[in-house]
Amino acid sequence: MIDPLIEAWMISVIAGVFGLTIGSFLNVCTLRWPEDESVVFPGSHCPKCGKPIRWYDNVPVFGYILLRGRCRECRASISLQYPLVELATGLVWAGMFSYAGFSGEAIRGALFLTILFGIALTDARFYIIPDQFSVGGLVLGLGLAFLPGGVSALDALLGAIVGFGSLEMVAVIGKWMFKKDAMGGGDIKMMAMVGAFLGWRGVLLTIFLGALLGSVIFGPISYKTKKLVPFGIFLAAAAAITYGFGAEMIDWYMTNVLNM
Ligand SMILES: [Zn+2]
Repeated sequence: MIDPLIEAWMISVIAGVFGLTIGSFLNVCTLRWPEDESVVFPGSHCPKCGKPIRWYDNVPVFGYILLRGRCRECRASISLQYPLVELATGLVWAGMFSYAGFSGEAIRGALFLTILFGIALTDARFYIIPDQFSVGGLVLGLGLAFLPGGVSALDALLGAIVGFGSLEMVAVIGKWMFKKDAMGGGDIKMMAMVGAFLGWRGVLLTIFLGALLGSVIFGPISYKTKKLVPFGIFLAAAAAITYGFGAEMIDWYMTNVLNM
């Protein structure tokens, strides 16, 4: 018999190491999917000199430390984004499995948060939410809803419809009012995916929180600099908050505001 505490610790460590690898792949996806490039070919190479990266230099986080942030061949500096994304993804996976144990919910939550992280990265850098994250995530979310715990399959389907429908409506009304596209198609597909993971209540809370975060944080910056709002970042943050605390927030609202 293994001590349950040690077992829980081991599960988190293994999930964390797995998460580091997922993070390494997420780096590749967030840089190549927006440019319609394959994530398999060519293999990892230095963007400056094009030399392939050796497997031991490509080990998540440690490779960066080993190389002290520079390409082994040409000494060009490697973006700090690589180890940071790997580390963050590793922590998300370790955290999810530490919180939910070795369960379907841990897998569902870790994948959902990884997809949201990827969306935030691509939206920030390219103003693009790749279909691989949104449509691919939607299919994944609907499939994972059949696992025990979390939202039911019916709620996941309703969530996807509500998420897609709400933002589609905002897009149509926005276009009618401002005579230009107010909402990107990527955001609309993304919210179908979010609905599949959070259910219809969760997706509505996400849209509300996302709009709030977006207008409070980016609204003033956007107004001053006339820069486009990468709304997907705020929707991704709002979806992550809803995944973690949404049930409590909805309960609080029901009892204190609606007196139900
Ligand atoms: Zn190089």
